[in-house]
Amino acid sequence: MDRPRIVCRPKKLFLRSQNWRRAFERRNSVLMKTNKGEQKKIALERIKILFKEADIIFDENKTLANSYIKKARKLAMRVNLRLPRVLKRKFCKHCYSYFKSGSYRVRTKNGKVVYYCFACKKYTRIPFIRERLIKKLKKR
Ligand SMILES: [Zn+2]
Repeated sequence: MDRPRIVCRPKKLFLRSQNWRRAFERRNSVLMKTNKGEQKKIALERIKILFKEADIIFDENKTLANSYIKKARKLAMRVNLRLPRVLKRKFCKHCYSYFKSGSYRVRTKNGKVVYYCFACKKYTRIPFIRERLIKKLKKR
């Protein structure tokens, strides 16, 4: 009844080395991309493509479209890129569901544009300060 207890050990060690390797590769890939402006440009291009694809496929497969949106936003966050205003208002930041007719509602309230997501039933509020400022300047 003397079972060797070492049996599970190599597996653990292997896993640890895999994790280490993954971390190393990630760091290396970040270092290799030194040109940040170029990186952001490429990322924006890919994000636009992802949004376009999501728009096309939304009617057939909502989950796939939403996964595209999630990918696009994660990509933007990774390269520290601000999503353009137009794209920012096209999805729910809580559950990443794409905003197309029938999946959301828009209202204005107290100087904010309020987006209501039907999928997760949460609100996204975006103030329209800039529009108000322009109005004020025109009045003067
Ligand atoms: Zn949502």
